[in-house]
Amino acid sequence: DSADYDREVRSVCPYCGVGCQISFKIKDDKIKYVDGAPGPSNENRLCVKGRFGFDYIAHPHRLLRPLIRRDDAPEKGLNVDPSNPLTHFREASWEEALDFAAAGLGRLREERGGRAIAGFGSAKCSNEEAYLFQKLIRQGFRHNNVDHCTRLCHASSVAALMENVGSGAVTATFNEIANADVALVIGANPIENHPVAATYFKQFTKRGGKLIVADPRGVGLRRFATHMLQFRPGADVALLNAIMHVIVEEGLTDEQYIAAYTENFEAQKEHLKGFSPEKMEPLCGIPAEEVRAVARAFATARSAMIFWGMGVSQHIHGTDNSRCLISLALMTGQIGRPGTGLHPLRGQNNVQGASDAGMIPMFLPDYQPVGDDGVRSLFQSIWEMEGWDAEPGLTVVEIMDAIHAGDIRGMYILGENPAMSDPDVEHARAALGKLEHLVVQDLFITETANYADVILPASAWAEKTGTVTNTNRQVQMGRPALTPPGEAREDWRIIVDLATRLGLDWTYRHPSEIFAEMKRGMKSLDNITWERLERENVVTYPSLSPEDPGQAVVFGDGFPRPEGRARFTPAMVTAPAETPDPEFPMILTTGRQLEHWHTGSMTRRAKVLDAVEPEANASLHPKTLRALGVAPGGMIRIETRRGAITVMARADRAVAEDMVFIPFAFVEAAANVLTNPQLDPYGKIPEFKFSACRVTDA
Ligand code: SF4
Repeated sequence: DSADYDREVRSVCPYCGVGCQISFKIKDDKIKYVDGAPGPSNENRLCVKGRFGFDYIAHPHRLLRPLIRRDDAPEKGLNVDPSNPLTHFREASWEEALDFAAAGLGRLREERGGRAIAGFGSAKCSNEEAYLFQKLIRQGFRHNNVDHCTRLCHASSVAALMENVGSGAVTATFNEIANADVALVIGANPIENHPVAATYFKQFTKRGGKLIVADPRGVGLRRFATHMLQFRPGADVALLNAIMHVIVEEGLTDEQYIAAYTENFEAQKEHLKGFSPEKMEPLCGIPAEEVRAVARAFATARSAMIFWGMGVSQHIHGTDNSRCLISLALMTGQIGRPGTGLHPLRGQNNVQGASDAGMIPMFLPDYQPVGDDGVRSLFQSIWEMEGWDAEPGLTVVEIMDAIHAGDIRGMYILGENPAMSDPDVEHARAALGKLEHLVVQDLFITETANYADVILPASAWAEKTGTVTNTNRQVQMGRPALTPPGEAREDWRIIVDLATRLGLDWTYRHPSEIFAEMKRGMKSLDNITWERLERENVVTYPSLSPEDPGQAVVFGDGFPRPEGRARFTPAMVTAPAETPDPEFPMILTTGRQLEHWHTGSMTRRAKVLDAVEPEANASLHPKTLRALGVAPGGMIRIETRRGAITVMARADRAVAEDMVFIPFAFVEAAANVLTNPQLDPYGKIPEFKFSACRVTDA
């Protein structure tokens, strides 16, 4: 009924990597409700977050004016009431706040050199904001200490994909499952974390597709699975090598494909000899016959796809896990055709785009290495500047360590919340408290903003113009439905205003000008123009002509690697960084849940979502709860070597008897107080999915 709204605005959901297209229905300059729109990744479908997750925009905690820390503020700590920040901060004009922010960063640059500054952007940034943010750090401070939450997400997957396939993005959209006979979903829980993508997976099983689900937790998709492999936590490499062992042993490899498009298969084949499913059974807890059945189903399928999530990536052996998945696809030739391919399900709506735009310490836009002189020259010419550091910068967790070591003294944090999202978060909070100058740009007094010296009030996604890129490589146009409240401003404007105060000659007047500049250094955007996106809403990259909507499947005829060949990189079994022992006998794993988004700053301020899932919780097997003498709904204390939290217990038969699962959105029982900061050596991603813990009745 068009009478119940004044106007509608087409945009994109700001939450998960599915990137559903939405239609804001606006009445009296407020979002009255949200409908699904016919985007290629959602075809009008939405999940509960896309439907009900928008009223945070008008929450009373919203920051309306810039804030500067008061001279008489209490010592920095997690101690600011978000409904009354004026106990710690005073209101300031934009002029004063921007001058103050730039002066603090500029002073450190002068006294300590640009390397004393680091920047955290966010996957909530548009492509244009992400591009400007990394450019500000590189051009303004002449080094590469810029990162964002991709480091906590798929950094290890991207490391493996870049190494072995030559490109970090998915090789096929998730919609290609419609053309598949078999799909392997491993270490992912799409029903909660990519709910609209999960609807395509369910449709696939309805028409007879064989779904193999592999996860240490019995995630929701198990109800649709032909095979459910609930393997031991951390045993991914053992399981995947055993599957590949069977494929080689039974002669199910695609020899023609291997010969035409790959290298190093002989080494992989030799390596797999030691991984029979019988030998791996005690490690991964899956009967050898079941492993054999899965191997046969995958290898003999006409077309098969592989999907994975944080359960694969967030380990100290995350890169090895992905190497195995890549090898599995290559040895069976299940890549480069319709209904085949590798698809790491991206977590956040623009983690793909923010990474493509270069907001990572080792790569410039389009994953071009910072150490490559030719690449640096290209950007020096686009940015009209002299050289900057060829060394890769520090990553998210390394930056926190560098603050403790006194090497990083100032930070600019846009939309990221490391005081909740970093592993061993008390270590991260202490680091933020040590900074001499912290500039935070956000919508609310987030946990990170508690430690700020100056806070710049940002705009919500529904108030912005910009493009974002979803898990499917689909670049989509976001349009503003509302104007920012109070004195809050669009983020790209704030970045430009800060940059000019730091001495950079930036003159952008609209995000379209930023996009045009990005195209000069990013071949992935060939044939994709701002005008085209305004007209068509979405174009998938690569797009081969101005008329081509983009390629759903890539690498049909070789890979962007030497001689066009993808590589097999054998992976050894590595133990988790800490294993259970008598003192800490259980395994802690963390993640998201359907109703809440990451650190909860938006969804816990959305009325319906908060009502549906109002409380911090931990899931344990009912037998484990009985042994603890705790009834479901009772309180438990969970401890690791990093800290302890008290949280309400839920009974969940899907969780193994020696495991605990905690969502990380709740500050009152912050999961990351407990998590292990040990890093994967390649992707530098922390081991969120495995910590040794102790659980007691609280
Ligand atoms: Fe938004 Fe993801 Fe839900 Fe789609 S599936 S509505 S993108 S949270």
